[in-house]
Amino acid sequence: MPIATFPLGPLDTNCYVIHRDGQAVVVDPGGDPAAILQFLQDNHLALSAILLTHLHFDHLYGVSALHNATQAPVLAPVGDEQLLHTEAGGGGIWGFPKVPSFAYAPLEDGEHRFGALQCTVMRTPGHTPGSLSFYFPEEQAVFTGDLLFYRSVGRTDFPGGDHAALLNSIRDSIFTLPGATKVYPGHGSCTSVEDEQHNNPYCGAFAR
Ligand SMILES: [Zn+2]
Repeated sequence: MPIATFPLGPLDTNCYVIHRDGQAVVVDPGGDPAAILQFLQDNHLALSAILLTHLHFDHLYGVSALHNATQAPVLAPVGDEQLLHTEAGGGGIWGFPKVPSFAYAPLEDGEHRFGALQCTVMRTPGHTPGSLSFYFPEEQAVFTGDLLFYRSVGRTDFPGGDHAALLNSIRDSIFTLPGATKVYPGHGSCTSVEDEQHNNPYCGAFAR
């Protein structure tokens, strides 16, 4: 199985490891990365990049530690910088700790290659202004962060959230992918494009 899931941090944020031919990327390390580092070591994987879907605190707690341990570049959306100056991005909200600071390079949308992995980076704003989704065509998988969940969608009451934009992103980006594409969200269970097109109560109006 080339995709491994690790719920990390105080909100059980899904951290994913995607790998092919000995090279890996990590999406959203939201807590202590010890289990990630062990998995990389056990499977003899070199980490090519740390990808961030958006800059909310619960997706970020492990970024600094994972970068320091691997020196893999951190790549993040260009539109979310200002969130790091709020409690929703930099931490502190609801009594949760601050996020250890980290440096990152902006990740543009379009075609990318991370080691042996081909990835289409899609701009999917709504949950945050900069939110990205990562589509790996060879793995038939898309990583949606907090845009789209199993039978639900992301909240839009944090700074920069926009519910109409979120629904447009799902319709115009995620729901144009092949129906069998597996959807790996930032929280909760894995699903598929086709399954959500038919069963997601928030997207029913435009899915069929
Ligand atoms: Zn979020």
